[in-house]
Amino acid sequence: MPSRRTELFPDATDAQWRDWRWQLRSSVRSLDELQRLIPLTADERRGCAETKEIFRLGISPYYLSLIDPAHPFCPVRMQSIPVSAEAGKHEGELRDPLGEDHHRPVRALVHKYPDRVLLLALDHCSVYCRHCTRRRITSGDEGGISREELDEAIAYLRAHHEVRDVLISGGDPLLLSTARLVELLEALRSIPHLEMIRIGTRIPVCLPMRVDDELAKALRRFAPLFVVTHFNHAKEITPEAREACERLVDHGVPVENQAVLMRRLNSSVTAIKDLMQKCLTMRVRPYYLHQMDVAEGLEHLRTPIAKGVEILDGLRGWTTGLAVPHLAVDLPDGGGKVTLQPDYLVERQEKQTVFRNYRGERYAYPEPRETDCSVPYDDVFYGTRAADETSGFRPEQASGVRPQASGKAKLRVIR
Ligand SMILES: *Cc1c(COP(=O)(O)O)cnc(C)c1O
Repeated sequence: MPSRRTELFPDATDAQWRDWRWQLRSSVRSLDELQRLIPLTADERRGCAETKEIFRLGISPYYLSLIDPAHPFCPVRMQSIPVSAEAGKHEGELRDPLGEDHHRPVRALVHKYPDRVLLLALDHCSVYCRHCTRRRITSGDEGGISREELDEAIAYLRAHHEVRDVLISGGDPLLLSTARLVELLEALRSIPHLEMIRIGTRIPVCLPMRVDDELAKALRRFAPLFVVTHFNHAKEITPEAREACERLVDHGVPVENQAVLMRRLNSSVTAIKDLMQKCLTMRVRPYYLHQMDVAEGLEHLRTPIAKGVEILDGLRGWTTGLAVPHLAVDLPDGGGKVTLQPDYLVERQEKQTVFRNYRGERYAYPEPRETDCSVPYDDVFYGTRAADETSGFRPEQASGVRPQASGKAKLRVIR
């Protein structure tokens, strides 16, 4: 289905349409505006009204123009228009589903893993995803992130030599002006032990006109810098989105994709396989396929764990290995990400291991006779550094606050 731009926004000139600031200014932010453009279902009208106090509504004209006006299960629609289920809360659902607030040594940082941090750069987005699990931040309820708080984050990073990877997120970092973004990146790059930077952004999906040559060139200066974007359905891979991704890659900025598995939106082998393959045609490498977090108002989008595994089973072997993402479950209460795979192991014997392959046929892999796997050259190449320096890291050291497991606390494994 082609974009409905001319039908929905007949007065927009080409120059306006290509201007990301015009797109932001013209975003649809209320039920009234929305129902003038898209015939809403009764449940969507209720959803808009009932979530009004809970989470922002905001859809760029570009993203809105991709919505199928006739189908309530249009994946673009489901990601941008609230339904009444979003206002519901269920037992066990959390406002901070990943327990991040226990790992915020300073307000703009989440330091949960040994060698990398999440930097919350700002609190707004070009489209407010209905599946957002960081809405305690993107709802604006926390208040924005100030320049002083970003300075405080830089100071923390400067003092923490174990951090070698910063993932800038928010909100959407590419909504910062290029000048502000460059300022932030320069501050990060002035920290000698930071090896790499990632920017988590939905701009290529929801506001691709933001990715101009100036931005791509600016990002390239900070290599190794990876853009991690968030396509969830092949319908989002439009000529504009493709141009944005290819522009980044052409300028030397690698682009990865993290998708979220969502019930009845993309929860089929057909939809995920097509999405992953189409990402590769834009040179965007599938990275994670996320199981939906246990967050307030999102139960209707959660899939059973078995569904994600079944989908991976339908990819591995059947299509390009580069198109197979890691299936990640980010555990409630701050447990962090773990990955799941179909079980290919049939039996582990002393002399051999028996597997099933992707077609379900059995094959045995014989064990070697020698089992000493120590690497003699490690001592030469790494000297005394060979032992993992960060293996002693405990996340609660970052904040001084012990994570508090809610509900079924007995399940939390104590080291
Ligand atoms: C996902 C995540 C990261 C990055 O994890 P990778 O597995 O390295 O991509 C870092 N910090 C937080 C808090 C995260 O949720």
